[in-house]
This record gives sequence, structure tokens and C-alpha cells, in this order.
Amino acid sequence: MLEIYNTLTKKKEEFKPIKNKSVSFYQCGPTVYWVQHLGNMRAMVLADLIYRSLAYLGYEVKLARNYTDVGHLTSDADSGKDKMEITAKKEKLTPEAIAKKYIKIFKSDVKDLNCLKPKYQPRATVYIKPMAKMMQTLLDKGFAYATDLAIYFDISKAKDYTKLSGQDLSKNISEAGQGEVSDNGKKNPTDFAVWFFKAGVHQNALQTWNIKFKLPTGEVINQAGFPGWHLECSAMNQALFGPTIDIHMGGIEHVPVHHTNEIAQSEAASGVKFVNYWLHNEHLTVDGAKMSKSGGTAYSLTDLKAKGFEPLVLRYFFLQAHYRSQQNFTFKALEGSRVALNNLRNQILSLRAKIPTLRSGQAPQSHGKINEEFKNKFISAIADDFNISQSLALVWGVLKSDLTDQEKLVTILDFDKVLGLGLSKIKAEKIPKEIKKLAEERVIGRQNKDWQKSDKLRDKINNLGYLIEDTSCGYIIKKK
Ligand SMILES: [Zn+2]
Repeated sequence: MLEIYNTLTKKKEEFKPIKNKSVSFYQCGPTVYWVQHLGNMRAMVLADLIYRSLAYLGYEVKLARNYTDVGHLTSDADSGKDKMEITAKKEKLTPEAIAKKYIKIFKSDVKDLNCLKPKYQPRATVYIKPMAKMMQTLLDKGFAYATDLAIYFDISKAKDYTKLSGQDLSKNISEAGQGEVSDNGKKNPTDFAVWFFKAGVHQNALQTWNIKFKLPTGEVINQAGFPGWHLECSAMNQALFGPTIDIHMGGIEHVPVHHTNEIAQSEAASGVKFVNYWLHNEHLTVDGAKMSKSGGTAYSLTDLKAKGFEPLVLRYFFLQAHYRSQQNFTFKALEGSRVALNNLRNQILSLRAKIPTLRSGQAPQSHGKINEEFKNKFISAIADDFNISQSLALVWGVLKSDLTDQEKLVTILDFDKVLGLGLSKIKAEKIPKEIKKLAEERVIGRQNKDWQKSDKLRDKINNLGYLIEDTSCGYIIKKK
């Protein structure tokens, strides 16, 4: 039985998909106006681990992760300017070119981190029609109203507006009504914009659409504008999956504004429950503090590569903390992950080398059996609200166990379907001829019981940066 912690009910619940074994899963994707930092990358890997876990448990998962390429203002609420347009001006490119540039980098980064490709990767600007349709429904049903600057959602009409966050609206957490845009036409200070008109602070907006809206009074508004960020996710969910979805995931910071607003408008438009299970991932800190661009700690994957870390080392690092826990990034901890991953790879290579049938390139899965006892423990770990760090610990448990080499290998490669460390694809390092020659000389020395010569050759191999290990099937050479 799979149990998932649901932010909406604040408890672990048995997972019951709407349609038998099929799961609709939406993750709020990046706003593509800059290179995503490690915190964003952590969120992507965490969703990938949940996606893979669900698939491992036998579900057919339809994952959607969007690209926000319009309408996300510098504040998560309604103030400030569109992030895409600010970058467009800075880089002297069109918003479309900015989106193209940063989507490309993002796709390459998540691929490097071995995240599986979502079934859907919708771009907000391609879904303007469904957004307009949802907005018209909100106007027709009396949940939305227009001012000179925007169309707002009237939160006083929403059924239990704060049910996800439990926030106290008198503290004005959603920030609406504050900042650069304050609109006197608003009915409630916390009403949020569903659509912005090309007016006021947005009069020079570069990405706008002419949509006709009919107000309940019969009046027709025909003015250029662009969607609010919250509406985008609601409309894309509706268009891809229908009114109710199984899982919606996003960062913990989205609870009080973005996701609260998504629920309000989706449920107002459809009249039914929007999301059955809300999942929220915690933040990544750097050196114990919030990541900061100005402080130079908002590292990207490219920064890590430049420092000599391969992306899968970062993935290994992310495997070590639960998605609902904060994780602290330090280069020392990343170095620890590098050592651990190298160690794991070397052990996999040793196991492979000890199993002669695998040398001919046959698939390891077809040999030997997955150990049931470990597999059951592994399933229990991931079925307990996706406890990935515990499932990773089981990999080391398998290696230390008294299972046969073959069992160890096939069991770990099976677990790697969830962990995604690419362990079935690792290649033995090419050993230079010179080293191989020394190793062969050492074999002859050992056959002649010339231990002194054998030890000397071992030292020589060591000094050249390689390790030699003797096994029952012969020797194994590894790079130090
Ligand atoms: Zn979203």
C-alpha cells in the first residue's frame, strides 16, 4: 500500500488514483527567464524520483511539467513586471527567444541529471485559448470581475479559500494589493489577477493577446492582455487531464499563493475537487543559508560541472534527503557524494567482472534472481511517502550482505530503476596497455610464488594511479 503525505489534509493517506492504475501527475515547472539553480534542480530530481517510484510500484504515470513563459511577475502575487520581459530587455532579445534559450538549457540540465522525460511539457503561451475559456467561465459564474487594469478572482466567493495553507488572510500573506500595482477597483485586498490588461505598469508589455470577454452585464471587453501565472497552471491541468487530477507537486513556497489560487479558480470553474494529493518539496539551502543570486550561492549545474563535478554526483547527493526535508548543499557534502558514487560504481564493476556470463554483453537482468527480501524492504521504503534515502541505504545493505554476486548485481540494478544513477550503463574504465602488461607480469610472478616481484609490480601499478585487486576469477584493475 502506497502512502503519501497530502499537504491538503496534513497527513499521510493511502494513495487511490482516480482511474485504477493510471496516475495524472502535474509538477509546476520553471519560469524560463534564467538558468535554473540547484534548488530548482533538486525539485526536478525529487519529482523524477516520485515519478519513477510510482512506475516501479506498477502505476502508469502521466507526468506533466510546464514551462511558464509569460505572466509570472517579479512577485509571486500581482506586483512587479513580467520576469520574461525583464530578461528580454536585459539581453536585448524577444521574450520568445529568451524562452527558447532557457528551455534548451533546462532540458539539457534535467537530462544530465537522468530525469525521465515527462509525457507533457506544455508552454503557457500555447494554452492561451483554454485559459481564456476558463476565465470566461469564471466571469459567467460570478467568480471574477474586471477593473481597468485586470480581471480579478473574487476570493470571498471561493469555498474555503485558505484550505491548503491555513493562512490568516488578515496578515495579507498573498501580497496582493501591495507593491507597484495597487488597484483601487479591487473588491478584496487579496483578490488575485487572472488576466492583466495592457495598461498601467503593463502598458509596454511585449507578449499580449486580444481576447474578447463578455461580462455578466452584457458588456464586451476587447483589450490586449496576458494571463496571470496561477491561471496558466489551472488551465493547462484542465486541458491535459480534465477537472480533477491525482497528484500536483511544487515547491513549499507555492502553498500560500500560487497553489491556493490554482485551487480557488479551478474549483470555481469546474465545481469539483481539483487535486486529490498535494505534494510539496522543501527548499535547498547553501552553506546553511537561503540560496542567493546576489550572494553568489545560486549555483547552476554548469557551475558544478566547471568545478569538475559530474551531474550524477549531484543526483546522488539529492537522493540522501527526503523531499519534505530541507537539504543543505555544501561542496564538502558534494565531494562526499562523489566518493560514494565512485565507490558504488566500482563495486558494480567488480560484481560484473566476477560474473563471467555478463562479459559477453548480455543483459544483467536476465541472470540470477532479484532478492525478494531486499526488494520487499525497498518497496516498503518507497511506499512510505517516497523514502528514497532509505531505499538508497538498502543498496549498500545489499552490497554488504551474503547474497551471491549475481543476486547482488541484479537486485541493485532493479533498484536503480528508481534511483536513476545509470548503474546498468557504467563502463569499465579503459586500462592503458602499460598497466595491463604490468598486471600480466604480476600474474606470472604470483604463479611462480615470487611474492617480492608481485608486490613490487603492485606498487608500480599503484604509483601509476591504478589499483589491482585479486578475486577468485582473476584480477581487477581500477583507476584510483
Ligand atoms: Zn503552477
